[in-house]
Amino acid sequence: MEKRVYPSLEGGRLLPLVESFYTIQGEGFHSGKAAFFIRLGGCDVGCSWCDSKESWNPDRFPPVEIEKIVADAVACEAKSIVITGGEPMNYPLDKLCLMLKGYGLEIFLETSGSSPFSGCFDWICLSPKRKKPPLEEFYAKADELKVIVEEPSDFEWAEKNREAVLKVNEKCLFYLQPEWSRMKQISPAIVEYVKKHPEWNVSVQAHKFLRIP
Ligand code: SF4
Repeated sequence: MEKRVYPSLEGGRLLPLVESFYTIQGEGFHSGKAAFFIRLGGCDVGCSWCDSKESWNPDRFPPVEIEKIVADAVACEAKSIVITGGEPMNYPLDKLCLMLKGYGLEIFLETSGSSPFSGCFDWICLSPKRKKPPLEEFYAKADELKVIVEEPSDFEWAEKNREAVLKVNEKCLFYLQPEWSRMKQISPAIVEYVKKHPEWNVSVQAHKFLRIP
């Protein structure tokens, strides 16, 4: 997919915001935790099953001052922030993270790892995508490796990424998550795989079962 040219963002003081909302994190290690989501626009990875395709084109989302984004986060009871996208690593996030940290908030990142790292996070969920694999630096930083499984051949992709993590990282947890539209077909294979390979955990998108954002 073609890399887009982003507007001037003043080193991350402005960011293209798709939406922000207070909800329950539905996936991975922090599933079930109340969290304020910040979804940034722009992604050049192009997963066919992406559930936020509307976020791909950053031109649709005029840059917003991070002071406004943070003010909305601190206005609710949230203790945790999830920064997601789109692909949030398309932007310099140091300024946003510093400002959130100033309010004592813990920050979780959801990323494909396909663009250079920035920011400071309490938890990094690396979700590698075949179309644009992670940069090496993300394997050492990941607290959680979450691989979306659409078909049985994705187990091989998952293992390849797990091997890359294990070379440089002892703390990382491993999750396999059924692609939502293939849930019925692929879930039995994921369950059997995790029973045979208990170093993996199953992650399901609980927010979709709860019908919340
Ligand atoms: S990396 Fe994420 S936002 Fe980008 S296309 Fe894939 S699933 Fe969608």
